[in-house]
Amino acid sequence: MADVVVVGAGLAGLAAAVAAAETGARVVICEKQPEIGGSTVLSAGLSAFAGTEEQATEGVADDAELLRRDLLETGQHRNDPALVDTYCAEQLTTYRWLRGMGIAYGEVHAASGQSVPRSHPTDTRVLVRTLLDRALERGADFLPETRVRRLLVEDGGVVGVVTDGGKLAARAVVLASGGFSRSPELLARFAPQMERALRGGGAGSTGDGMLMAWKAGAGVTDTPYIKGTFGIHPEPGGAEGGTGILAVYKGAIAVNGDGRRFIDESLPYKVIGDACLAQDGGIAHQIFDAGVMAHSDPSVPIYDFAARLDNGLLLQADTLDELAKQLDIPAEALTATVTEYNTAIEQGTPDPLGRRTLSGGVGRPTPIATAPFYAHPSTTVVLATYCGLTIDPHARVLDVYGEVIPGLYAAGEITGGLHGAGYVTGTSIGKAAIFGRIAGLSASEEAKSA
Ligand SMILES: Cc1cc2nc3c(=O)[nH]c(=O)nc-3n(C[C@H](O)[C@H](O)[C@H](O)COP(=O)(O)OP(=O)(O)OC[C@H]3O[C@@H](n4cnc5c(N)ncnc54)[C@H](O)[C@@H]3O)c2cc1C
Repeated sequence: MADVVVVGAGLAGLAAAVAAAETGARVVICEKQPEIGGSTVLSAGLSAFAGTEEQATEGVADDAELLRRDLLETGQHRNDPALVDTYCAEQLTTYRWLRGMGIAYGEVHAASGQSVPRSHPTDTRVLVRTLLDRALERGADFLPETRVRRLLVEDGGVVGVVTDGGKLAARAVVLASGGFSRSPELLARFAPQMERALRGGGAGSTGDGMLMAWKAGAGVTDTPYIKGTFGIHPEPGGAEGGTGILAVYKGAIAVNGDGRRFIDESLPYKVIGDACLAQDGGIAHQIFDAGVMAHSDPSVPIYDFAARLDNGLLLQADTLDELAKQLDIPAEALTATVTEYNTAIEQGTPDPLGRRTLSGGVGRPTPIATAPFYAHPSTTVVLATYCGLTIDPHARVLDVYGEVIPGLYAAGEITGGLHGAGYVTGTSIGKAAIFGRIAGLSASEEAKSA
């Protein structure tokens, strides 16, 4: 019998496996795909940590209290404060634990919901590989292409799992099978407003673990707050891969098929995502000029505009008229929209849609005036689902009445409660690592006491 069975080999599952194996537990990791990594390896790899060495090097003053405030304010205080406190209390320990295994973080930068630069980039393929190797070194068994279908439940407690290959008995089970961004059925049930959005996330993100836990009586939270991300090219199976571009945050405007702006482009990309879906066809166009193109940055995929030009995802023209023709939108309307936008900036009068900055509280808009002009057809994609199972600060799954389900733990995107009504960039990866580690430690402790 295993002490701990971990379902899913993304960041949360592998962090749980390492943490449990480090305490001497006998761990078995089941992954339904042939490869490890799930959504984690598709992601931009940004982790929200506060008070790190990278921040200190760059002179960024940050701490757990500021992080806590950002999480609660961005989540509009709909978050579970106990989970927010746990994230803040454990984030530096987790960061050091990962660094101790050789994980390196690059230059920090600011992103949505962060009052100071707090996004720590890392190579997620190296991250998951390092964790798997560490778990294997500590004696864990890894079963790829092993789909867990059901939980084994006895007397209300979880005692193992049923896989395609048969039953696996365990003293504790950690569900770390990710979200449901790839499940049309679950999205239709919880986020019908995302019907027209593209679906991102790992191929395995089909909500399997959530269904299994439901059957065992688990509660679910934060489902009303599923949001998509603006900026991805709508081309099916797009050359863009996981993320789109956010030229709007460097000075582009977003216009609809009538050539009209429809939102203050400095707002969070999730808010623009909702507004974009409400436009005809669910499509918008990010329109910008050579001045914005000059800010293209190959090291940050969402700002790598030049790469989009190279791979044919940007339209380019010497005049706005010509650009409008390529986009098949009314040229007069596009010119009038840009003229109105530029005039407000030049005359210092209020922007018609209330835009005052480039993004959040940062930067000042500049006129769109220098040829060549560019357009990036953009829509909204559901990359992650941000909601899910109710857990306590020990990552124990709570049932619909808030009571612990013995033997069952969950971590990562499968869980709800941390984000509340809004999302701070970097806290999905952060949550997977922090609560994955906690789940592994807690599950191992329960297994030992059994
Ligand atoms: C394009 C993109 C960009 C993103 N950028 C960021 C970012 O920069 N920062 C951030 O914080 N978040 C980001 N996210 C979200 C973040 O990547 C995920 O929320 C996080 O990585 C989830 O980790 P996880 O371990 O919970 O799940 P995953 O990494 O998805 O792992 C779950 C694993 O479980 C497996 N599995 C599923 N069902 C079963 C089953 N029945 N049996 C066995 N195995 C199963 C899956 O195959 C998968 O390997 C991004 C997501 C995407 C798609």
